[in-house]
Amino acid sequence: MKADLGGDNGTAVSPHAVRERLLALGFDDVRFAAAGEPLKTPLRAWLAAGMHADMDWLTRTVDKRLDPALVVPGARTVIMLGVNYWSDALPRPHPAAGPVWARYALHEDYHDTIKPALLAAGKVLEDLHGANADSYRCYVDTGPVLERSWAARAGLGFTGKNAMLISRRHGNWLFLAAMVTRIAFTPDAPVRNRHHEGAVGTLCGKCTRCLDACPTAAFTAPGVVDARRCVSYQTIENKGVIPRELRPGIGRRIYGCDTCLEVCPWNRFAAAGRQLLLAARHDLADLALADILVLSPERYAEVFRRTPIKRLKLTGLLRNACVVAGNSGDRALLPLVLTLARTHASPLVRAHAVWATFRLGGGAQLTADSTLERDPLVRNEYEQEALPT
Ligand code: SF4
Ligand code: SF4
Repeated sequence: MKADLGGDNGTAVSPHAVRERLLALGFDDVRFAAAGEPLKTPLRAWLAAGMHADMDWLTRTVDKRLDPALVVPGARTVIMLGVNYWSDALPRPHPAAGPVWARYALHEDYHDTIKPALLAAGKVLEDLHGANADSYRCYVDTGPVLERSWAARAGLGFTGKNAMLISRRHGNWLFLAAMVTRIAFTPDAPVRNRHHEGAVGTLCGKCTRCLDACPTAAFTAPGVVDARRCVSYQTIENKGVIPRELRPGIGRRIYGCDTCLEVCPWNRFAAAGRQLLLAARHDLADLALADILVLSPERYAEVFRRTPIKRLKLTGLLRNACVVAGNSGDRALLPLVLTLARTHASPLVRAHAVWATFRLGGGAQLTADSTLERDPLVRNEYEQEALPT
């Protein structure tokens, strides 16, 4: 087939047929953004302020994230694909007990489950427009594409004050994937409000619920999250010690944080997704903290196989579980964190277990152990506990 990439003289081809085919593949929303103009976002200032913590790959790829022509030379369109992961079948977390997981984590890893459909989406461009494999790239959160900003330009939603992409149809619950292509499609219009043309909070009005609800005061301004203070960063991306001053605010959040998403009133309009590209693991929500604190490596691998939580590794999950235990006030958990503080091979786990033990009132039982501990990470926890408050 002759390649139909849209005209070089500015003419664009209708996205209708491609949209229909991609919706049929299982994507819940498909929108098109013009790639000609690089994005204008505060990303560079955010990076310069160090708010990306140690996520240095963001710095390395910033130019590509803002300009897709650096990803696919001659790029004309960014096709943004949304997969709605809201499900009415997912029980809400118990109001008073148990660990709380980010909703997205209660599925098999979406990178894996969406990828086959994304590859098929590329074939659609080849079928309908004669694109060759060099003329487009597909990404599901794995490439140098600023998905939320491109999704906002494509009108898939708007950027809320919570810095998330909010869809009028799907609320805050979208996985995003992107296709960068040389085909010039007629772009979709972004979400607009005659009172507000800014990039952030287009349809937020006077609402500030997300900013007010953040448990660790991670918002430095509407739409600006300091990752260093964000529970999602601390419990997922940070591979080291969680700062002591942030631990109480983490509460029962064992993996990720949905607080600034959950409180958003736009979720009222979110219908459940079709779930065609997802594999639910809602059973994880039933795990008791006591069971997590005694996980063996074998059991961990078995329970969290194919989920995003597997990338945290067992030590990361135990670290988080100790923080949740320390916040629980549940003295029945004391023997479990005491055992981890005394015997676990990982200093990272021992350090957080020491903190949890003191928080649950068992610090005196660690007196002998504190003199034997040689690892500086863990010793620091003992020393902090010994400081006068
Ligand atoms: Fe705050 Fe949680 Fe939102 Fe991070 S994810 S900004 S911690 S509410
Ligand atoms: Fe906007 Fe309110 Fe939603 Fe925050 S909670 S993103 S302010 S509508």
